[in-house]
Amino acid sequence: MAPDQTAATTEPVTPTPPVITARVPETTPVEASAVDQAPVVFDVRDLSVYYGSFRAVRDASLQIRQHEITAFIGPSGCGKSTMLRCFDRMNDLIDGCRVEGTLEYHGVDLYDPRIDPVEVRKRIGMVFQKPNPFPKSIYDNIAFGPKLAGQKGNLDDVVESALRRAALWDEVKDRLKKSAMGLSGGQQQRLCIARAIAVEPEVVLMDEPCSALDPIATSRIEDLMQELKADYTIVIVTHNMQQAARVSDRTAFFTTEVNETSDTRTGVLVEFEVTDKVFSNPSDERTENYVTGRFG
Ligand code: ADP
Repeated sequence: MAPDQTAATTEPVTPTPPVITARVPETTPVEASAVDQAPVVFDVRDLSVYYGSFRAVRDASLQIRQHEITAFIGPSGCGKSTMLRCFDRMNDLIDGCRVEGTLEYHGVDLYDPRIDPVEVRKRIGMVFQKPNPFPKSIYDNIAFGPKLAGQKGNLDDVVESALRRAALWDEVKDRLKKSAMGLSGGQQQRLCIARAIAVEPEVVLMDEPCSALDPIATSRIEDLMQELKADYTIVIVTHNMQQAARVSDRTAFFTTEVNETSDTRTGVLVEFEVTDKVFSNPSDERTENYVTGRFG
């Protein structure tokens, strides 16, 4: 629903909670005809992102659909993380960063000046490359967000539910009051996922969530992502093409274009398609060169 256009004040408004009316049929791999029917969560049109006068991403257009995993791939510096941070307005926290173009969340302009970015970040969670638990107990890491959001009383059920959904409960249920810093890297990352979902977001953004993890911990996170997509919409930045091919329904391939005159590199979205197609029959030669390892 659009913000109240008639409002005379400049009070921040928050996007209306999306009404979730449809589920994507559970098929793997997802067929193009099925995924095309999934509701659009984010509609990105001609989005450019600047750091000061430097344009890091140019004119990207794509749609993120509900209960899908969308992967952003491409060589380092092509703007994948920059794009990801647009979805929860984290770029607002970077001095000089601004966007041009349109980014709608369920039809609401996410960059409408009346939208409160703090509210946005309650609906759209982020998991970072390096697990970043708070130096608190496992329990308090999970309870932190719900408490901040005003939940009172006993949060045991909330904590257990989030840890179960992040496939961590069995490993930590007897040590909830122990420091989260004592967990392994893979456990810490699942804790961070549990912390992100404890506030019941609709979308979880993941910025190279496995790049600091060993292959076993990586595989657990990938399995977890498959389970989570029944309840959440996931966007993942990964430098690992095999990971994108394994976990995602759709893939966006970005690359950098070099401006010879100014010697600047701008990120461009080359191809955005159902993942199977990107890896088996890409439309653009640049995508083919990248996914076959001839470039980047
Ligand atoms: P990727 O995630 O694909 O590696 P990034 O989004 O991190 O790419 O970076 C895209 C471009 O934007 C790069 O040229 C990078 O140097 C630049 N950039 C990223 N973050 C900032 C920042 N905070 N300030 C200025 N430039 C930045």
